[in-house]
Amino acid sequence: MHCVKLNGTEQACRVGKIVCLGRNYLDHIRELNNEVPDAPVIFCKPTSSLLENEGEIVIPAYSNDCHHELELALLIGKTGKNMSEASAKDHIRGYGVALDLTLRDVQARQKSKGLPWEIAKGFDTSCPLSSFVKAEQVNDPDNLQLSLRVNGQLRQQGNTNMMMRSVARIVSEISTFYTLEEGDIILTGTPAGVGPIVSGDLLEGEIEQVGQLRVRVA
Ligand code: MG
Repeated sequence: MHCVKLNGTEQACRVGKIVCLGRNYLDHIRELNNEVPDAPVIFCKPTSSLLENEGEIVIPAYSNDCHHELELALLIGKTGKNMSEASAKDHIRGYGVALDLTLRDVQARQKSKGLPWEIAKGFDTSCPLSSFVKAEQVNDPDNLQLSLRVNGQLRQQGNTNMMMRSVARIVSEISTFYTLEEGDIILTGTPAGVGPIVSGDLLEGEIEQVGQLRVRVA
């Protein structure tokens, strides 16, 4: 069973599904030469991909190119389907700091064959995740600075105001495909600056008002 902590409460929230949005920041779409999507690009990670703060990332032997992607995570607190954007925020219980680790070589190979990328995105430890702050403690999730340092060097820096889809729109759109339930996690996409990580690297992600995430590569 995989749980996440909500700061200021004793309760551990049992994680349901982890739904991720790809290509949500224009600068990141451009750095990978991807097309700007007209519909949301959505994929899932299994709960076995979760890694706690201070944990160790294990890059699978079938890849030589694991990339970091720093992302704002949402914790769903209330079940909803086909939610309007106006009601979507009522379903968010908290915000956290996540990494969507990606085996770029495996993903490229899968993409070139028109195959799903799950094995590039869902491996064990591919989803490092901080504890969550309560939603009411974040003024505006669509205007938060985020940054990632690797071994102290700034690699990614952005603001959620650069997202093509707002937090409310993301929740609303995903809920047209999947019922969102208590304990589900949503990853909202990454800004530019993604790059490789190797054995021994220390990754430190930070999102203002939300918190920090610190993990190391085994
Ligand atoms: Mg991502």
